[in-house]
Amino acid sequence: MDRITEILKRLININTTNLPGNEMDAVNEILKFFPQDIEYKIVDHGNNRGSLVIEIEGKSHEKIGFIGHIDTVPVSDEDSWIHPPFDGVIENGYMYGRGTSDMKGGVTAMILTALYFLENNIIPPYTLKFVFTADEESGGLGVRALRDKGLLQDISKVFITEPSDEEIGICEKGTLWLNIRIKGKSSHGSKPELGINAIEKLYEYINKLKNTLDLDKKHSLLGNSSYAITTINGGVKTNIIPENANATLDIRTIPGFNHEEIIDNANKIAKDMENENQGMTIEVYVENNRPPLTMDKNHEFIKEIVSVYEKLSYSVKFKGINFYTDASQLIPYHNIPFVILGPGEEDMCHQKNERIKIKSIGRMIEFYISYIINF
Ligand SMILES: [Zn+2]
Repeated sequence: MDRITEILKRLININTTNLPGNEMDAVNEILKFFPQDIEYKIVDHGNNRGSLVIEIEGKSHEKIGFIGHIDTVPVSDEDSWIHPPFDGVIENGYMYGRGTSDMKGGVTAMILTALYFLENNIIPPYTLKFVFTADEESGGLGVRALRDKGLLQDISKVFITEPSDEEIGICEKGTLWLNIRIKGKSSHGSKPELGINAIEKLYEYINKLKNTLDLDKKHSLLGNSSYAITTINGGVKTNIIPENANATLDIRTIPGFNHEEIIDNANKIAKDMENENQGMTIEVYVENNRPPLTMDKNHEFIKEIVSVYEKLSYSVKFKGINFYTDASQLIPYHNIPFVILGPGEEDMCHQKNERIKIKSIGRMIEFYISYIINF
């Protein structure tokens, strides 16, 4: 078995579905691949959860970061998978398993990139920081803890090794989840004019907020922003005007949208409607707020990547990533150049029968090493 397959299989064998995550098991496994005298730091998040930072000192003190998450999404229908999701079965050049594409394949590429320098005694031109994070699939506990401890602030460029179909990911959509709770006034179904119908007001609210967004605006790589009502609850009985209603909204935004502005509008509409309907209250909760991110194609960092791609005869294609990554918890705080670039297919993420082409991991290792040596 070659090393890519061996490392990936061992990572797939460790169940890090989130929740509960248990990422510390993966942290300990990753360390086993490395010589004992490496420089590393484990950040313990409690409950057997942890993140890991491995540093390889270079000739200069400039630091390049590689960030990959070690948790995965859960498996809901284990019996219907063609291969058991934690076995790491190989078939026709693919390995199957939960987290193969998203993103233990990228993590494997990071490990082997690091080992290339260590085992061949090559001192990289600058310091390399390999960051393995917990909880990316949920609240981003890992990257937030590392960031807040100042462990990421010395990185001057970062590769997010999420599956990008080997394309160069230069932007990602933002995510804004809002929870809207309306309290109106109940009355008998035959006397709606005596109450305030919370469901009807919720409906009105949702449409008003939607109208403030330019959903027709198109981004060349990411398409349109979207606005989806994802849960809705309210009312108690057919003949009672409902007093309570709530809904959650999943808003995905393209670069150019300002989340603070959307939240301000959400609060303003709530205030205006409260003023129009004495006795009604509208509460707006922000459940998740990750801004859209974008890099200029002509940025020096992206141009360097393109030149390495050309050198390796990889086809140069830019990509927009529709889901959020750890970058959304990092870039708005440390304004550094980033790229989302890693092995595996974006469409495989969170899917049943998730798999990755083993060759794709090898190609990305070759790219990471070439980039480091050339720039
Ligand atoms: Zn991922």
